[in-house]
Amino acid sequence: REAKAQMPSYKGLENFKLLEKMGDGAFSNVYKALDLKTGQKVAVKVVRKYELNANQRANILKEVQIMRGTHHPSIVKLLSFSESQEHYFLVLELMEGGELFHQIVKLTYFSENLSRHVIIQVAQGIRYLHEERGVVHRDIKPENLLFERIPIVPSKNQIHRPYDEEKEDEGEFTPGVGGGGIGCVKIADFGLSKVVWNEETMTPCGTVGYTAPEIVKDERYSKSVDMWALGCVLYTLLCGFPPFYDESINVLTEKVARGYYTFLSPWWDDISAHAKDLITHLLCVDPAQRFTIDEFLAHPWVNAAPAPPPPPT
Ligand code: ADP
Ligand code: MG
Repeated sequence: REAKAQMPSYKGLENFKLLEKMGDGAFSNVYKALDLKTGQKVAVKVVRKYELNANQRANILKEVQIMRGTHHPSIVKLLSFSESQEHYFLVLELMEGGELFHQIVKLTYFSENLSRHVIIQVAQGIRYLHEERGVVHRDIKPENLLFERIPIVPSKNQIHRPYDEEKEDEGEFTPGVGGGGIGCVKIADFGLSKVVWNEETMTPCGTVGYTAPEIVKDERYSKSVDMWALGCVLYTLLCGFPPFYDESINVLTEKVARGYYTFLSPWWDDISAHAKDLITHLLCVDPAQRFTIDEFLAHPWVNAAPAPPPPPT
């Protein structure tokens, strides 16, 4: 085994011991760290200030401001924020289980019950953002959905789909009960999020009357971008690949613009009609027709009781 890479040290972050790198982005690194004052394990997002222009710096501060106001079990908590000359430090609730993305890659796809268990948590976070905070996330994707703890509960008793013989032995997660199971999924990364309009008055928070029509039109549907993304995540959970993909970015863009996707056989053959119906209402090109978060939460597939576990063999 290779020795762990040497952790960098940052001026301004002396109260934390960095333990390992958990992720990185264009301008940031995320570390697992120990808060030396409280003994608590946390995640620290270190953003390289000097690589950002004024606009990008303002966006980080907006990310912080939005996260400070959000308190919900399906949303990663911002524990504190500080900055040095060179960096911003976002101290976050630690999500030990990592990205939903990695779990999909590992397992190929989730059963309908497990997909429901995951997507309902994400949807409740979105409902809170849309309806209680007036916030659109705008970057919902499996890389930004994190498991609170490592969700490995392999069970060979779960149904597998016979056409994928290679995957037969890999087992599946079991939805969480008590100490076992898959546990909590939370929404992270508010880097692209923004505050939107008050639904009743159709005015931006705090301002009245002088806004251009194209902005009103845009903003009215801005929450629907999260619903489209939720549809893409659900699709991916159920079959293991995304609804829209092409090696050529131009072709991909065209497919998305037309909403061209299919329930590809054989992968979708055994998936319920209710699940497909729900996805159809999310991956709907016209934002005015697309399901809102309340319509999502009222859909029969979301409200179906999970099937009882198979008898032990
Ligand atoms: P970026 O804007 O660069 O995408 P993110 O906030 O999404 O930044 O963080 C990048 C990655 O770091 C995430 O995709 C995830 O793998 C990891 N990460 C972020 N926040 C946490 C956290 N609170 N706990 C554990 N890992 C995290
Ligand atoms: Mg991200």
